[in-house]
Amino acid sequence: MIDLHSHTNESDGTCSPAQLIQEAVAAGVHILGITDHDTFRGYQQATGLAQAAGVELICGIELSTKLHGRSVHLLGYFLDPGRLAGFSEWVHDLQVARRERNIRLVARLRELGFDITLEEAEARGRGMTGRPHFAQIMVEKGYVPNLRAAFDDYLDESAKGYVYRREPRFAEGVERIRQAGGLASLAHPVRVHGDVPAMLPALCDMGLNAIEAYHTDHSPRETEMYLALARHHGLLVTGGSDFHGDVKPGVRLGTGANGNLHVPEDLVEQLRRNMY
Ligand code: AMP
Ligand code: ZN
Ligand code: FE
Ligand code: FE
Repeated sequence: MIDLHSHTNESDGTCSPAQLIQEAVAAGVHILGITDHDTFRGYQQATGLAQAAGVELICGIELSTKLHGRSVHLLGYFLDPGRLAGFSEWVHDLQVARRERNIRLVARLRELGFDITLEEAEARGRGMTGRPHFAQIMVEKGYVPNLRAAFDDYLDESAKGYVYRREPRFAEGVERIRQAGGLASLAHPVRVHGDVPAMLPALCDMGLNAIEAYHTDHSPRETEMYLALARHHGLLVTGGSDFHGDVKPGVRLGTGANGNLHVPEDLVEQLRRNMY
């Protein structure tokens, strides 16, 4: 089994890199992509452990980018360690922008009457503290019934607690990933606001390499539709569970939600063959 989309506690997952490798072994996942948000720390910590456990690890990242004013997630794969320096520096700038946003987010949430501090949030998220960590705190303190409500009522782009964060444009994300020797894949297209089939030609022109046709959130029909779009536009295909551990308890590594995920093994071979 293969799974090209997973998160550790170096971003907003709950498993340490070591625990994630254990999960992979337990689930029978022998090729694993770690795609933490805006950081390689989880991947870097997992490399030795993966090798010892016989799990082939793929270096990945998930970037939040802006496309037509909305947030769109972009996956980067097979980034070349030899060309990572410039890319890592750029990613570091994103982390700085995130922290600056978090300071303003705390101020906004306190203004709305919530007793939340930056220290509390950073105790959970460390270098990659994000809105999901704030959402967890809001649930634990009883301010909202669940994570869904935390986002819907306060943290979502359209909600009253949202504060702006500078995010790279989608095209810049694609360009940076490719400059670092990687492949850029449109993450969980079902979550993209807008008409993906209509948007794809422009995204291909920006240099997009692949589309994540297989994802836990996709119905079989949606997967078929994205596969057809990939064929039509000559895009490669990626896929994975988007495993986050306990914060998304229904989603299992490798198999997704209730076994709804089947990522074909030969897909990695296709990706490798198309690297440059
Ligand atoms: P941040 O990078 O801190 O702005 O937080 C973005 C993360 O929050 C995304 O990667 C998602 O995991 C999560 N997120 C964003 N919007 C929502 C939403 N409406 N519902 C649930 N999770 C969301
Ligand atoms: Zn995440
Ligand atoms: Fe995502
Ligand atoms: Fe993800």
